[in-house]
Amino acid sequence: MPTIALTAVRKSYGTHPPAIDNLDLEIPDGSFTCLLGPSGCGKTTTLRMIAGLEPLDAGSIEVGGRIRDSVERGVFVPPEERGMGLVFQNYALWPHLTVARNVEFGLRVRKVRATERAERTMKALKMMQIDWAADRYPAQLSGGQQQRVSLARMLVINPEVLLLDEPLSNLDAQLRLEMRAELKRLHDETGHTIVFVTHDQLEAMTMATHVVVMNKGEVQQLAPPLEIYHRPANTFVAQFVGSPPMNLFDVGTDESGPFRGAVHDRIVAERPELNGALRTVGVRPEAIRLSARSAAADSPPGGLLEFDATVTTVLPTGSSTTVSLDAAGTELYLVSFQPVTATPGDTARCSIDLTDLHLFDGARARLPE
Ligand code: ATP
Repeated sequence: MPTIALTAVRKSYGTHPPAIDNLDLEIPDGSFTCLLGPSGCGKTTTLRMIAGLEPLDAGSIEVGGRIRDSVERGVFVPPEERGMGLVFQNYALWPHLTVARNVEFGLRVRKVRATERAERTMKALKMMQIDWAADRYPAQLSGGQQQRVSLARMLVINPEVLLLDEPLSNLDAQLRLEMRAELKRLHDETGHTIVFVTHDQLEAMTMATHVVVMNKGEVQQLAPPLEIYHRPANTFVAQFVGSPPMNLFDVGTDESGPFRGAVHDRIVAERPELNGALRTVGVRPEAIRLSARSAAADSPPGGLLEFDATVTTVLPTGSSTTVSLDAAGTELYLVSFQPVTATPGDTARCSIDLTDLHLFDGARARLPE
């Protein structure tokens, strides 16, 4: 089973800057790796280069020591010899073939004998729990069922690497949820390396063993999902992952909002090595607590940061409530898992544990802990 390694990869579509520039990326063997990032950041291009569908302008791609593409050495392995399975957003089943014939097609091309074809087709259909539809035509199936068939069609050729490009984005919310669980099960059962492109952070966070956050053709962070959430490498990752996004405040030269004055000094008092480096602090919405106004409001206890803010909106979701606040002209979001009684216009006392702050430097990179 292969590790996929991209080294110094560049890809331009003739425009400047290149879609991918000097990309280094190592996708762990047997991982379920999601490429996550905003539209146009280069996720699909990266996937297509791994598949051999998009020629590189510079650099190399290696898969398990078996596939070696290198622009510098002039070597390239064509897509059909890479042993990879691909599924795209539009599942592109052949409408005039039954589900079983669609799935076995790849085996026919590979000249596999009829009995083995039938066995492997049924096995793949069963794995995707769509074997009951073997004799139906695609038009007789729902979108989610068709996508299961396209996954079975990919699995039947027993690929070492599965490449999936937003395969769930045409499905409704309920089906997407089901398919995420299916894909996770598939990964647990087969141990295949899966590379999955999505711009949906929830999809990445729920399924992946590893998440690659990309922006403007560059890797921002590669880490397990919880590490991405709890220890974002920079302010881009901090704000891209999490909904509502992490609140960020400048505590450098231009101090503003609720953290005016004190925060920088309090942090630096405890960690003098950050003096001159600390520029921005971040706090997740769920790390801000609404509390009753306390008499000791202006002399917060050590470790706690307290401030007043005006409630602007209250959005209950059922399991939690998102509150937006105006703290001395700075907008921030809070998520509470307790009932919220405050209404718009109220002044609320907010508190944050200093240990819940994320600290970033002037280059917006996470400061060491
Ligand atoms: P999305 O989530 O919208 O699919 P993405 O992250 O997958 O986006 P890519 O499709 O890889 O991004 O595109 C990266 C950049 O390359 C974008 O700026 C895009 O406009 C450009 N690009 C992609 N394909 C082509 C093409 N065939 N011709 C010209 N430019 C392209």
